[in-house]
Amino acid sequence: MQGGEFKSSGMASSWLKEHSTRRTLRPMSAQDEMAGDMPTIVEKGDGVYITDVDGQAMIDCVGGLWCVNAGYGREEIIGAINKQLRELAYCSTFPGSANAASIELSEKICEIAKEESITKVFYGSNGSDAVENALKLARQYWKILGRAEKYKFISLRGGYHGTHFGCMAASGMGSAFRRSYEPMLNGFISVETFDSYRPLIKGLTPEEQVDLLITLMEREIEHQSPETIAALIAEPIQGGGGMHVPPASYWRKLRELCDRYDILLIADEVVTGFGRTGHMFGVRGWQVKPDIMCCGKGISSGYTPLSATLLSERVAEAWSSQTEHSLVAAGYTHSGNPVSCAAGLAALDIVQKENLPKNAGEVGAYFLTEISKLIDKHETVGDIRGRGLMMCLEMVKDKDTKEPFGDEDTYPSDISRFCRENGVWLRQVGHKFIISPPLTFTTKHVDEVVAVLDSAYSSVKR
Ligand code: PLP
Repeated sequence: MQGGEFKSSGMASSWLKEHSTRRTLRPMSAQDEMAGDMPTIVEKGDGVYITDVDGQAMIDCVGGLWCVNAGYGREEIIGAINKQLRELAYCSTFPGSANAASIELSEKICEIAKEESITKVFYGSNGSDAVENALKLARQYWKILGRAEKYKFISLRGGYHGTHFGCMAASGMGSAFRRSYEPMLNGFISVETFDSYRPLIKGLTPEEQVDLLITLMEREIEHQSPETIAALIAEPIQGGGGMHVPPASYWRKLRELCDRYDILLIADEVVTGFGRTGHMFGVRGWQVKPDIMCCGKGISSGYTPLSATLLSERVAEAWSSQTEHSLVAAGYTHSGNPVSCAAGLAALDIVQKENLPKNAGEVGAYFLTEISKLIDKHETVGDIRGRGLMMCLEMVKDKDTKEPFGDEDTYPSDISRFCRENGVWLRQVGHKFIISPPLTFTTKHVDEVVAVLDSAYSSVKR
């Protein structure tokens, strides 16, 4: 059955809603959560706006899922995809064949990430692939160098790195996220992370918190024995973890620890890569060079599934001579898919030509200033934080105790519904709103969003 048939019969909306959970096991959802509140079924996207099957237009404050960085309906990307589809829809990059789009895209990415000394690119389809491959290649790197005992990974509480087993083991999202899939993999150690709203010890300044966290990290490294640790993986700014922005010293100190103990530093840039924080990469904002970077989402502006693990010269160099461990036994049917890579080339062209990192930095700073005014105006808006066009708004029952609204409380979803009905699409995760709009956002869009939020907090009863 075609969507068009329903539209012409006027049945689209109700039929789609009723059937939306019937045959599809929905990702990242408790399957009964839709029972009361039907999902919004989005039909169209144009610029920073989406429209659902009922004709409700909304400003997309989620950027798809932090990925539609160039906005919807970009003819440059659509044209590149169409052209590639007509010329060559598929070509494997396994031994014996390759395609022009993937070769060109690797050149372009290495050029963009020259400052980070990136010299090799390994493709996947999702951020989880990029992370999983980063973990595999980090272990392999040490084996090639004859140091097979370096196999452990250190990661941060609150970190989110995707859903493959390695990604989950490295993630620190809490037990509800892992419980049904345990046991996790061996060799993953998680340590405490930066929290700007509820610091590890109440009253610590951000710099004091950094010092404490680095001390704890160093003690864990020594406890594990540095000779056993392959890599430390972290996001430049934790996305799913709630966008607590650490002081710049944090990442520099992480780099120093990795250097001191000969540990690879993996930056998970799946959200932050290609402009979201106001810099081309999150790590560039911290003036730190990682050894491996994981990219996804914005790499193709979400138009096609595409991700990449980027290797710095130091790491890539290990594969320059043949050893018993040199075989890269990783890769997928769609590694370097030409259509995805063509989309990536066009999307990154836009990022560069329109200087989207700069726009994200400027509009993001304005957004943070304007939206932060809601804290003083409304008693349930506890905290707003972020950098560039990635922000988090946290709702609390009590500003003094910082007690968040619980899962049983409908207030956050009532606010969310009000915003939706008034033309603003937000991502609600429990008592938090994740704000990550396209990087083409303007101050006019910001004003629209803040006005709707303001009126939601004034109108919706607790
Ligand atoms: N890493 C980070 C930092 C992410 O935020 C995500 C997804 O949101 C992933 C990895 C996994 O990406 P994907 O969902 O494309 O597999």
